[in-house]
Amino acid sequence: MGDASPVGPGGEPTQGSGAALLFLQEHDSRIMALRNELSVMPERVELQLIAARMGEMKVRLGEVARIRDDLKARQEDLDSRVDKVAERKRKIEGRLYSGEVSSPHDLQAMSAEVENLSRQTSDLEDEELGMIEELDKLSAEIDDMERAVDAMSERSEELADKIQARAVEIDAELTLVIADREKAVAQIPSQLVFAYDVIRDRSGGIGAVALVGGRCGGCHLDLPEAEIERIRKAPPGELRTCESCGRLIVP
Ligand SMILES: [Zn+2]
Repeated sequence: MGDASPVGPGGEPTQGSGAALLFLQEHDSRIMALRNELSVMPERVELQLIAARMGEMKVRLGEVARIRDDLKARQEDLDSRVDKVAERKRKIEGRLYSGEVSSPHDLQAMSAEVENLSRQTSDLEDEELGMIEELDKLSAEIDDMERAVDAMSERSEELADKIQARAVEIDAELTLVIADREKAVAQIPSQLVFAYDVIRDRSGGIGAVALVGGRCGGCHLDLPEAEIERIRKAPPGELRTCESCGRLIVP
């Protein structure tokens, strides 16, 4: 079998069982690589990471929105208290300056009340201002998170499209490679295919390898001279296995 190409111009095996087996191996390796790519596409990993981050951010977003809503309710409550105090102050001031009340004692009490209500208004307004500042901060935080979620969502769609497009390509190639494999299988004695499949299953997907310069193409160990001779001189249809890794060796 020497150094001629095991594969003809149309991709078909051109030589004996050994070459056909290597052709089969090449196809099985490609099938394995394609299936592996399908399941471990880097885009899938990124998509999973984004989904996890998005999930966390949505939880945080919900928490901050709740805090913001509570604070907003408290601020509105405070605002209505400010209005009530202002209203009460206006009424007292109205009476104070109406001339209806003439008792100095009453006028003094009303003045003291107006002063008291002014202080209350000022305290409440300070408190409200603090709340408004906090509300602004929370709203900005929510905006940032919403923007981040939008960006992640956009990236997720992009990744899902890429995955889908690549999956279609992979499926198409798999169909072709599997069909070629079937053609190759038809040209190899079934017992040999069986042996190859068994070895391949237990040897990390590689069942048949080439003898490369006195080395096993599977485990890369140098083979003894006598063994190399046996491999090279084996009758057609009979293949020897590597003593070290157990794979079929094609001379
Ligand atoms: Zn080996």
